[in-house]
Amino acid sequence: MTDAPSYLFYQSRNPRPFLDRGEGIYLFDEAGKRYIDGSSGAMVSNIGHSNPRVLAKIKAQMDKATFGYRLHFRTHPSEDLAAKTVAMTPEGLDRVFFVSGGSEAVESALKLARQYALTQGQGSRSKVISRFPSYHGCTLGALDLTGYDPLRAPFDPMMKGMPSIPAPATYLDRDNLSEEARGLKYAEMLRDKIIEEGPETVLAFLMEPVGGASTGALVAPDSYYGRIREICDEFSVLLIYDEVMTGAGRTGKFLAAEHWGITPDIVALSKGFGAGYAPLGAIVAGARLVEPVLDAGGFLHGFTYAGNPLACSAGLAVLEEMEDQGLIENAAKMGEVLMARLRGLMARYPFIGDVRGKGLLTAFEFVSDRETMEPLPPSLEAHARLVELAYERGLIIYSRRTRGGTAGDHFLLAPPLIITEAQIDEMMTLLCAALDAFAAETGL
Ligand code: PLP
Repeated sequence: MTDAPSYLFYQSRNPRPFLDRGEGIYLFDEAGKRYIDGSSGAMVSNIGHSNPRVLAKIKAQMDKATFGYRLHFRTHPSEDLAAKTVAMTPEGLDRVFFVSGGSEAVESALKLARQYALTQGQGSRSKVISRFPSYHGCTLGALDLTGYDPLRAPFDPMMKGMPSIPAPATYLDRDNLSEEARGLKYAEMLRDKIIEEGPETVLAFLMEPVGGASTGALVAPDSYYGRIREICDEFSVLLIYDEVMTGAGRTGKFLAAEHWGITPDIVALSKGFGAGYAPLGAIVAGARLVEPVLDAGGFLHGFTYAGNPLACSAGLAVLEEMEDQGLIENAAKMGEVLMARLRGLMARYPFIGDVRGKGLLTAFEFVSDRETMEPLPPSLEAHARLVELAYERGLIIYSRRTRGGTAGDHFLLAPPLIITEAQIDEMMTLLCAALDAFAAETGL
């Protein structure tokens, strides 16, 4: 019943069929058509759909209490999920604050940073530097730090206009630098920006360790990460990692930060943290930051639904399932398989100009010329067209028309972390069919 009237509105009118059910990496619509969820929705469904053990644990909590306001009761699900989260994150990140989504997590990180600065007598620090392009959420505070003009421009008069530096889109650079030198070049842009703004005014630097939808799984050269940490330390600028998309095992570590041995000051989590079983997110920070804020009267922040036992029981069940099934290790292993398959496509499709990613957060980008990395003409609407051709064939992928500061079509493949090698092959067969159809349509 796709033609039933709808009173709902989202970003646009929704032409999609009704969802019936999910099972593992698959979703089924009401007509019985099966789809591989090649993007885990919006990089959310990390443990796959309708996991019976997780559902049973959520039901058990439902039978006890679905809500208990945090100012009235402590609850075991929230305490246990906080403890589990701390156990899974690197040392030094040992305080947790729950929220219901990614934008809320980013907002919470910003407010915690500001309140911490106040306890240190640093009230002059209010600027947060972010990267362009980037995506940090749709609430006004998070949007102010989002480097994605199509979403931001209409609301610009409502923004403070925070400073930004370029995201390290080194695959577009045509200089003679080594990868290491390129990473350092981009990191130094942060140092320059802090000095330009006045270090005493800069509160924090906010970054996605592996880019999400805005850049298409952009990974910086290894040298970038450590240098950024050093620069933040040099100027006492807090380092906030937005791991809303990369956290909870997506890149083959619980936090992407672990790939580079970085301990950020605050980490934002959501998406895979609730894995689609509950609207859930969190910020994780060190006691070093949180305790002074609590001593000074408390964190002036909190959402009604935050930390509710139902969402937290879902989150706890998700993390337990990830551990029991070894899903983080599987993400690392299957990520390599998927990357190899995607790289293999470059021989067959000359319009694929770059393949990148970490773990099971992977992307490929279309170009009209691999040498110059010139994008395809916007009139082809490639980002939208390939998604449709894949959807018709039963494969869900995610796309955007943006890249390092300019327009370009990229596609994210980020299946649930439970995926097997045989299922990756099944996904690639559908993807190739969609790419063949795109090539035939466009003559590319
Ligand atoms: N931060 C990042 C890196 C994201 O990818 C997203 C969502 O795509 C958000 C924040 C915002 O999360 P939400 O849509 O749950 O508010």
